[in-house]
Amino acid sequence: MTTETHNQICPVCDSPIKNGSIEFCPKCNWELVVITNQASTELKQYLDTKIKLHKETFLKSNSLREEVSLRIHSIEALEKENNELTSKIKILNSELSNKSEEFQKVKAKAEDTQEKQNKILKLEKIIIELEAKVEHLKINKLIPPI
Ligand SMILES: [Zn+2]
Repeated sequence: MTTETHNQICPVCDSPIKNGSIEFCPKCNWELVVITNQASTELKQYLDTKIKLHKETFLKSNSLREEVSLRIHSIEALEKENNELTSKIKILNSELSNKSEEFQKVKAKAEDTQEKQNKILKLEKIIIELEAKVEHLKINKLIPPI
């Protein structure tokens, strides 16, 4: 078996390879071995099978890597969405807290107004009673009892 490293393209991953500069493909780690035309059919078949198996492994690991990458992207997207929702909830909570404070103030004002109205009603009642007493006294003075 003659080892030469003059491949132009990696037989496994189709990466372009510089002449004789490296012994392994930098992309798929395939050993860049070339057998001469004089090599036995068995050796050629052996190498073909080896390339085929390595290619399968390479493609499988590639698709796994892609799948992992896709999942990472979707996890990142979900995390981003989660962060956005969390800050939206935070804003809504703070708005709710403000509204609740406003509501408490309005409620307090309403209660205060109700209290004042009750006091006015009581005062009106007292005034009416006093007026009645005054009227009664006037009548008593003007018309003495028999
Ligand atoms: Zn390769």
